[in-house]
Amino acid sequence: MTAVSTGSPGAFDTQDAPSMDGLRACVHCGICLPQCPTFRVLGEEMDSPRGRVYLMRAAAEGRLGLTPTLARHLDLCLGCRACESACPSGVPFGQLLEATRGQFARRDVRAPATGHAMLRFALALFPYPRRLRLMLLALDLYRRSGLQAVVRSLGALGPFERLRAAEELLPARSARVASLPEVTPAVGKRRGRVGVLTGCVQRFLYGDVNVATARLLAAAGWEVVAPRAQGCCGALHLHAGRLPEFRAMARRLAATFDPELDLIVVNAAGCGSALKEYGHWMPDLEPFARKVRDVSEVLVESELPLRPLPITVAYHDACHLAHGQRVRSQPRELLRRIPGLTLVDLADSDLCCGSAGVYNLLEPEVAGELGRRKVERIRESGARVVAAGNPGCLMQIARHSRTLGVDVEVAHPVSLLARALDAPGSEPRP
Ligand code: SF4
Ligand code: SF4
Repeated sequence: MTAVSTGSPGAFDTQDAPSMDGLRACVHCGICLPQCPTFRVLGEEMDSPRGRVYLMRAAAEGRLGLTPTLARHLDLCLGCRACESACPSGVPFGQLLEATRGQFARRDVRAPATGHAMLRFALALFPYPRRLRLMLLALDLYRRSGLQAVVRSLGALGPFERLRAAEELLPARSARVASLPEVTPAVGKRRGRVGVLTGCVQRFLYGDVNVATARLLAAAGWEVVAPRAQGCCGALHLHAGRLPEFRAMARRLAATFDPELDLIVVNAAGCGSALKEYGHWMPDLEPFARKVRDVSEVLVESELPLRPLPITVAYHDACHLAHGQRVRSQPRELLRRIPGLTLVDLADSDLCCGSAGVYNLLEPEVAGELGRRKVERIRESGARVVAAGNPGCLMQIARHSRTLGVDVEVAHPVSLLARALDAPGSEPRP
């Protein structure tokens, strides 16, 4: 865990080095600061986008080594990319961050305060369906046996902050594993064939969202193909700077989809954002990346037969949808099309909820503060349902709603659409 000497001209080597043009694009205007969740919570310049770009540029120019202190400021970044949305100079913050984290990861330079054991555990678990399934079975037993209730009532994990954060994140109900047929035929006039990414966490914890996605796409005229062999998209590894593993996972995933498919549809914002960036990291995957769409981008192009659903909904912008993919209007437009549904404003709707991949397990203090702020805004909105297009956000918001005693249902927008496609109240409330 030693700092790497800067050498000359800079601390980075040429393998996936962050772009100098990208770093130099920052004109230090500070417009991004109020949009940055970690700056809002921590109030430190070096935990703001401007401060982090300054540090990365100093390292690139050899004025700073790859030190654990620099690593810590980057570890505290959520990678939410709200700064990219705010930046008038087009600083590609997400790619700069991932490339810089890659430089640290390869040289094993670590900040002592960061939860590296938890990160290793998460990276060794989430992308592997068999391991994740076993873990979820064990957790189901933990829940059903009553042990979870005992642990929670005794506060037994109090001293182990990261473990406690992981435990509290567990849904109060069993995982909603629902299997998706490999092929779902189009209903009515056929528009074409799309592939669907079933995701890792999504598949096991929110399998019903995948089923809803396929039903809605089929109702919109798409034949839906969900290859059984598909694995992880590598998003978690990308965000952690584990670039070789990310590339290997991305290539395996892309190879499982028929190149003749018209589109690749994703219903998890973090995965969709990573898939859309495959071309940046692997230029030969650019044709694949160009076909990737968030499910809302596809469904908004169709007229769906929807029945009334008289509920009040607030929409939370998942960071990797709003900032990573610039998808903001389509999910709102789809929700507004449901008769009887009232979409209310949510203050700071595109401010990160603190989930950010596995950030809420690694940095529970900052993530907890952001989660609480998000739930307070939801409470103020008066909505009884909050919709978000990312499984991490669903878990984080549900967790903090539980702990703050806010009675709100948390649902993916496609779950609400699918409910309206059937009959009012046909889907059980979780
Ligand atoms: S990615 Fe998010 S947390 Fe990181 S600097 Fe940008 S706005 Fe702040
Ligand atoms: S908004 Fe862009 S140019 Fe301005 S300080 Fe932030 S990153 Fe730099």
